[in-house]
Amino acid sequence: MSSEAGAVFPCANGRPAAEVAPGPSRGSHPADPYDLIGVGFGPSNLALAIAVEELDPGRSCLFLERNTGVRWHPGMLIEGARMQISYLKDLVSLRNLASPYTFLSYLKAKGRLEKFINVGASRPTRLEYQDYLSWVAAHFGHVVRYESEVVAVVPVASPGSETLDLLHVRVRDAGSAEFHDLYARNVVHAGGGTPRRGAPGQICDASSVIHSSTFLDAFPARFPDHDAALDLGVVGDGQSAAEITSHVLKGYPNARVHLFVPGYALRATDNNPFANEQFYQRNAGEFYASGARRRTILRTELRNTNYGAVEAGHLDELYDITYADEVRGAPRLVVHRASHVSRVVEDGERLSVEVRDRTDGPDRTMVCDGLVLATGYTRELHPAVFGELTPLLSRDESGELLVTADCRVRTDERVTAGFYVQGYAESAYGVGDTLLSLLPFRSQQIVDDIRGRLPAGRPVAVEEPAPYPPSHYVETDLDRIRSLMERFNFATVISVARDARVLVTHVPLVVERDRGGEHGMLIGHLDRSNPQVELLRDRPVTVVFHGPDAYLSPDVLKTDRLPTWNSMSVHVRGHARLFSGRDELMRVFNGLCEQAEGESGSYWLRPDDTRIEQLRGQVVGFEVDIHELTGRFKLSQELDEANRELAAADMARGTSAERQAFIERAFDLQPRPDVLGPPGGPGVGGCPVGGARAAGGTTAVADNERETAR
Ligand code: NAP
Repeated sequence: MSSEAGAVFPCANGRPAAEVAPGPSRGSHPADPYDLIGVGFGPSNLALAIAVEELDPGRSCLFLERNTGVRWHPGMLIEGARMQISYLKDLVSLRNLASPYTFLSYLKAKGRLEKFINVGASRPTRLEYQDYLSWVAAHFGHVVRYESEVVAVVPVASPGSETLDLLHVRVRDAGSAEFHDLYARNVVHAGGGTPRRGAPGQICDASSVIHSSTFLDAFPARFPDHDAALDLGVVGDGQSAAEITSHVLKGYPNARVHLFVPGYALRATDNNPFANEQFYQRNAGEFYASGARRRTILRTELRNTNYGAVEAGHLDELYDITYADEVRGAPRLVVHRASHVSRVVEDGERLSVEVRDRTDGPDRTMVCDGLVLATGYTRELHPAVFGELTPLLSRDESGELLVTADCRVRTDERVTAGFYVQGYAESAYGVGDTLLSLLPFRSQQIVDDIRGRLPAGRPVAVEEPAPYPPSHYVETDLDRIRSLMERFNFATVISVARDARVLVTHVPLVVERDRGGEHGMLIGHLDRSNPQVELLRDRPVTVVFHGPDAYLSPDVLKTDRLPTWNSMSVHVRGHARLFSGRDELMRVFNGLCEQAEGESGSYWLRPDDTRIEQLRGQVVGFEVDIHELTGRFKLSQELDEANRELAAADMARGTSAERQAFIERAFDLQPRPDVLGPPGGPGVGGCPVGGARAAGGTTAVADNERETAR
């Protein structure tokens, strides 16, 4: 921990944290910590973000990711490389099939669902999976900070606490290079693995020695000439080694590839369905419950379901390449059996690669132009980040972290904050610990454990927002609300796509008071080519009706007020459904004519009008079953009666008598001819809001005035 941080906040030595200056935002002071901070925003913590939203939405949480976005093994997103698991093992499906964040939801949102089914592959490409992760992450922008590198996690005591009940998370902002201090009751570390490069000094740091984790960027940058005659080495026998070997053989036709494998040959991944049962939730739980010896035996036995093994189809592909080389009389792949690369040093422009024979054969030295280390990853808590926490974490006799079934690391009793790890305790959870299969279940366990550990009776930290609209502006008279909808029926229809795109259409609607539930229904129609049509197919929808509005100048009033704006609107939330039947569409067409023309109007569409069929081809009808109506009538309610009359008159000034009457009724004032207009004008008081309904279910209107008041 840097002295800068150590001077400000207390840590394992128990100095209380109260001296820390309060920060301006959530979580920046120990008195106002997050419930949860996630370190890293890869698949594990993405699954956790989904679980928090779906299972415990009141929880305050923040995820910190050092990259500019979700980057899942970018160095290995080799074109065409496929996932090794089914798309159904996404971040959430196994826990909640109805989640909006399933892989299928992603495909639907991207418009590729039918094509994906048509392709018939159950394992997406890694590129598509990365795109899925980015799509999910885009929904959680409000709980993640990118370009934020966690540089220290230190246990501290909150003000008045006798235990280390918080974790202080020190973050470096990549953009500004500034440090920030955050506090959380729980930290979930899912920072991924560290590329395995051998013991210090064993393998030199030359730019021609590239770990598989950076392969796609670093290799072509170092070897830009694809036609060069090179000797290139690849170390390892796992999926990365095989994919990189194929990729180099395809992209560098004149290169010779030396593949150093620790065993006799490359081996096929054991993904037979019986072995794969280890990834069932129940079996993973059984593994955890087993004794240490049994776990060790099982891990060894199941190692080739994941490590040091290559998907069988890919082995065939690689072998086909080598066979084609034989046919051409130019073999290019040399497999070095039983080889452990023990040392790599620079040899001028080239590399000297020392190879130890694992079957007691002679050691040898090879000279290569470049070397890719497909040597896998280690999973350890980084000492620089967790150095002050590590001594307080419990470990077994072989040094492995002791964890609960819910991924929480057991600690010294002084620590009561929760420290969870995803992917750092394979000895306890089995091979699935670093893989994707169990993420939906594991994230639920973590969420449940955190919920259970918060002090009893402690309210979840949700800031109750002030009610909106303010209660004094909310119109509760259903009749008035409906009257506004009928009178001002040119509405705004708003839909939100799964990828958060908002689509908006302005259309006239018919209010059907007597259909549907207590609030009635809306019906209307859209152009068939309108992209919003698809979002009205059995989907939630919001509709806004805009009533009169007007600027209210202080000069109008007999009181000293700031200028304001009065207005009336109604928000409808409901469920939309499409229809295209002739009778239903006729109801829309004639309902609109009737609503607009009123009693005095005479136009209506005859059922035998030949143009109707043509119109049917161009439009599609929709109805909205209204679940919720919110009337926002902001009408100077804070003023006294006399000033409200002036405000009403000002809003009504210059409008038709019918609109004047509407406004008068909405303001809930007794008619005052001297204020509201000339007596006996057509419709003054003659068409009150919520007045008698004409045949066909619409409100009678005296005229068809629709201009803006001012
Ligand atoms: P890996 O499976 O851990 O394989 C690395 C291999 O390198 C090990 O067998 C290791 O042998 C060997 N090795 C390490 N140091 C060595 C040395 N000095 N000399 C010779 N051999 C050495 O690593 P990976 O292939 O990168 O795979 C990691 C994970 O990523 C796996 O879960 C894999 O399935 C996944 N992955 C998936 C895809 C895909 O979905 N398409 C692609 C790539 C990777 P020892 O253990 O004996 O040292």
